[in-house]
Amino acid sequence: MTAIMGLQRYLRKRDFDKTPEPKGSVAAPRKRGLRFVVQKHAARRLHYDFRLELDGTLKSWAVPKGPSFDPADKRLAVHVEDHPLDYGNFEGVIPSGYGAGIVMLWDSGTWIPDDTDIDSALEAGNLKFELDGVKLKGSWALVRISNQEKNW
Ligand code: MN
Repeated sequence: MTAIMGLQRYLRKRDFDKTPEPKGSVAAPRKRGLRFVVQKHAARRLHYDFRLELDGTLKSWAVPKGPSFDPADKRLAVHVEDHPLDYGNFEGVIPSGYGAGIVMLWDSGTWIPDDTDIDSALEAGNLKFELDGVKLKGSWALVRISNQEKNW
């Protein structure tokens, strides 16, 4: 699900003559100092886009209520298309069309997976990790809801 997907879905969904979002490209994969970013996206429905750098792109989930600081709290995260690494610096207004609305950086930093085999953890739908951001610090997990493809 990682390198194969690339940015095709990202590019297909957007008209770069209209949107200020970065066209980007797949960056060189890194093993250390992996970035994470959370963007507050005031689209038709407000949500928080949670993105983890992996294999030169940003694996992305739309979290309607945003990440919770309470370990007892489970929040829906909808897996969406991989975004280019450049997207992690994007703030701006997306005009009418896909994702129309305001995007603001809400948090960023680095993430460290608990498992060394991140691809398998993603495949299994159970990714545990540490975040070292400004707002988000500590342990979180993304766990796919059983029998559901996109809902974690
Ligand atoms: Mn979004």
